[in-house]
Amino acid sequence: MEGYIKNLKEKGIKVTAQRIAVLSALKESEHLTAEEIFEGVRKKFPTISLATVYAILDTLWQKGLVEVLRIVPEKACFGVKMDVHHHFYCKKCRAVFNVHIPLCPSLRRKEVAGNLIEEVQGNFYGLCKKCRAKHA
Ligand SMILES: [Zn+2]
Ligand SMILES: [Zn+2]
Repeated sequence: MEGYIKNLKEKGIKVTAQRIAVLSALKESEHLTAEEIFEGVRKKFPTISLATVYAILDTLWQKGLVEVLRIVPEKACFGVKMDVHHHFYCKKCRAVFNVHIPLCPSLRRKEVAGNLIEEVQGNFYGLCKKCRAKHA
């Protein structure tokens, strides 16, 4: 709890119980859709609306506290922003998870053709380890 308050304060975001609830839901699972976050947060805050959850996610994304993934074809997913990492999407079981690969030189310099890079995302699509084992 302390950690989330610190994260919000550092970014100049007003600390509210609902914002903390959204952040803690995201820290529990790696990636969630807004609907999944809404279902979780609603247990504690029955009056919260999906629109409010989206508004909170937008604020947290603008301030760099959450990442938005457009990897799952049917919907966007959200995750807690960490160091640069990429995502793997399993086309069979639809799992999304973080993968870490060495950074290319532009990413280490944080610029490409004179443009400052603030965020980067690589999406890999294929068969995850578990599904590969099952279908081998
Ligand atoms: Zn899989
Ligand atoms: Zn991620």
